[in-house]
Amino acid sequence: MNKYYITNAIPYVNARPHIGHALEFIQSDTIARFKKTQGFEVKLLCGGDENALKNVQAAEEAKQPIQEFVDKNNKLFEELAKSLNTEFDIWQKASTNSHFKSSQKLWEQCEKNGDIYKKSYEGLYCVGCESFYTKSQLNEKGECFEHPGKKLEEVKEENYFFKLSKYTNRLLEAISKEDMKILPSFRKEETLNMLKEIGDVSFSRPSKDIAWGVPVPSDATQTMYVWCDALANYITALGYGESFGSPTSTGNRTSKFERFWPADIHVVGKDIMKFHTIFWPAMLMSAGLSLPKIIFVHGWVNVKGEKMSKSLGNVIDPIPLIEKYGSEAVRFYLAHETSVFGDSDYSDKHFSEIYSGLLVNGLGNLLARTLKMISLYPAISKPEEGALARYPIKKNLEFLTTGEKKRWSFEQASPSFLVDNVLWLAYQKAMAAYEISQAIKNIWIYLGRLDEYIEDYKLYKMVKSQPEEAKVVLWHLAYSLASVAWMIKPFMPETADKILLSLGVEPTSREEWKEFSAKEFAHLFPRIQ
Ligand SMILES: [Zn+2]
Repeated sequence: MNKYYITNAIPYVNARPHIGHALEFIQSDTIARFKKTQGFEVKLLCGGDENALKNVQAAEEAKQPIQEFVDKNNKLFEELAKSLNTEFDIWQKASTNSHFKSSQKLWEQCEKNGDIYKKSYEGLYCVGCESFYTKSQLNEKGECFEHPGKKLEEVKEENYFFKLSKYTNRLLEAISKEDMKILPSFRKEETLNMLKEIGDVSFSRPSKDIAWGVPVPSDATQTMYVWCDALANYITALGYGESFGSPTSTGNRTSKFERFWPADIHVVGKDIMKFHTIFWPAMLMSAGLSLPKIIFVHGWVNVKGEKMSKSLGNVIDPIPLIEKYGSEAVRFYLAHETSVFGDSDYSDKHFSEIYSGLLVNGLGNLLARTLKMISLYPAISKPEEGALARYPIKKNLEFLTTGEKKRWSFEQASPSFLVDNVLWLAYQKAMAAYEISQAIKNIWIYLGRLDEYIEDYKLYKMVKSQPEEAKVVLWHLAYSLASVAWMIKPFMPETADKILLSLGVEPTSREEWKEFSAKEFAHLFPRIQ
């Protein structure tokens, strides 16, 4: 069985999770579930980035001991993951002993390779980014572009540095040749531009100032720079370095590490791109490890065009939304309504419109109508091939596509032909390109047309006037809904199973359907005031 290792970024646990975290959870979980349907052995990772200075400052502000504080917040992220029905296989807390040891092993490998050196340094530190900047990288007020209004820390200290500049050419090559692919392609171009100006990076802070974090191996006066251990979580979670030094080991690897590394895809937000497209692969090169295959860089969920922030008071908490509408609706909204690689805007009004328009009156209503008509018969058996072609979709139908051809258009084809030969292919193609929003949008374009299909043949009259012929049309509808259920499994796993069960077919294996029948069922999406 082929493996597929996918990682979510481990979020800072300095505050409660917001809807942007929910978006990333849904993106990585949807990709993971899709790969499972394709037969891959999948490992999906998330965890808590616990060693950041911003966590320390937030704990001080909350007047709580730091470990207690990060444990408490970390739990909120785990609870969000659970209430969104995401299936994380590994939850890597960065304050654990095993993570400490393993990230120190990575440090030692880089050091052995001559890539870590000490020097005194003067610079400006943005706690928001957990990153150093030079004056030329800041706005005219001397603030970082990501965190306007926040004062930078003036730092003058002796640090360890990592020889990032040594790897510039190898990085340029790996990225240009797509040995490590960056999605979308404009992020690849951004990274290639950034590489032109990259120098060595500070890799530690004095432990007298920053005591919270992973100590530098063999130098207790220094604490590892938070990014250094946070990025390492992707391998420390696989047990990197665990068997180090044991006489029987073949090096610094455990079987889990050998099985799953390199990562097939890192899912990250645009704000932490450079750490994943530049710092991390350089660290891996230095330690002699393989590079991740894909870096997937998603955009942000904004509110009225602005970034969510505590100071603006516009942070959207996903938990009340899940409580009100259910996890399936939130999963749907974030997949269908959010641009995968660009920024999107969230509003409660828009959410409620999408919920009633596309779920209650869309999929939910279509399934209810179809089942009601099927329930007039003991079962709907598969009609003869010739009969199937008698009831085509009458109006043109256009799907969104990836690549050069903008749209696929069809008319006069029967629904079960379209679903097998067009929608299914468009879906596979979009999912393979990680265009998850396009994949689910095409499904809803198709569902919208099925509503019209019922009207085209006045099916509710036909079941009375021509009950035998009506069975052919009902077969097309039931077959389409069952196929759609299989396609939405990665997005809305519970809804998918409910659809299949209500049509009287097996939800766990995709056999060739011979008949459908209407089983008792509750409306998929209740109306909500
Ligand atoms: Zn910043």
